[in-house]
Amino acid sequence: MNSKDRWTKEEIGEVYHLPLLDLVYRAATVHRSFQKADQVQVCSLISIKTGGCPEDCKYCPQSARYQTHVTPSPLMQEEQIIALAKKAVLQGATRVCLGAAWRSVRDNAQFDQILSVIKRITGMGVEVCCTLGMLNGAQAEKLKQAGLYSYNHNLDTSPEYYPSIITTRTYEERLKTLDAVEKAGIGVCCGGIIGMGESVEDRIGLLAVLANRNPQPASVPINMLIPVAGTPLEGKEAVSIWDMLRIVATARITMPKTMVRLSAGRLGCSMEAQALCFLAGANSIFSGEKLLTCPNPEFDEDAEMLRLLGLKVLPAFSRDR
Ligand code: SF4
Repeated sequence: MNSKDRWTKEEIGEVYHLPLLDLVYRAATVHRSFQKADQVQVCSLISIKTGGCPEDCKYCPQSARYQTHVTPSPLMQEEQIIALAKKAVLQGATRVCLGAAWRSVRDNAQFDQILSVIKRITGMGVEVCCTLGMLNGAQAEKLKQAGLYSYNHNLDTSPEYYPSIITTRTYEERLKTLDAVEKAGIGVCCGGIIGMGESVEDRIGLLAVLANRNPQPASVPINMLIPVAGTPLEGKEAVSIWDMLRIVATARITMPKTMVRLSAGRLGCSMEAQALCFLAGANSIFSGEKLLTCPNPEFDEDAEMLRLLGLKVLPAFSRDR
């Protein structure tokens, strides 16, 4: 089976709108051709600097513009980050993601601390991914030299719907950060969120941007909106699992070699629903009681789910970034 380089929105729409079981069957076939279908990567996301963010992402409780349950805290001490990373690795994570609620990376002592943390966590034999906001080419180079495996910077939604969700930085700026990451030889992790009031066309539009990147992103996290009290999206209805299944399957078909990650919103999904997503091509989860500031399944529950489904944990460094 070959992968395809260019996808028009029409082609992606045809896939997305297939009868659901045909879509899942096709995605499962692609998944079995390009991925180790019996393995799922378990990641841990640590919020190393929480809240107080100047950006206005309407879904985010960490924006300083909204009154939410989040209490801002400064960058964690290096030893505290290392201790949390060690704990996550002991619990079975093979990828540790570090998230800081910043607009962009600055060249200062805090960035130097993060570079040191990246070296130390990489030394534990796991993949390290960071999400620190926008960055330039020189900063991406420094991250690469520190051993960073992957950098997350989500596009969130289609270029058309994006201005309804974020006004403080543009889609173009986000793409520039992705280009800098790519150029430095760091794996690109870039995905989106469903349930923010976007249309199905917008979901297809996001997939079109991702699938037509050259190379395609190594990692695509798919989040279901958690409508947090105090954010402008607090009243949004929960996304249906069928919508999640369709976007996961379409992502798998259009990006066969990519890691497709079930991210925020998994706590609201039954084990059966998650099993369907794994069948349709999802091959990564985030474990641990919190995903940044929102509740998330614990390591133990996830280990039990993987055991029941007969899935193994994907070892670190066994896929392209
Ligand atoms: S998503 Fe990131 S950039 Fe946007 S407000 Fe939240 S922390 Fe800030």
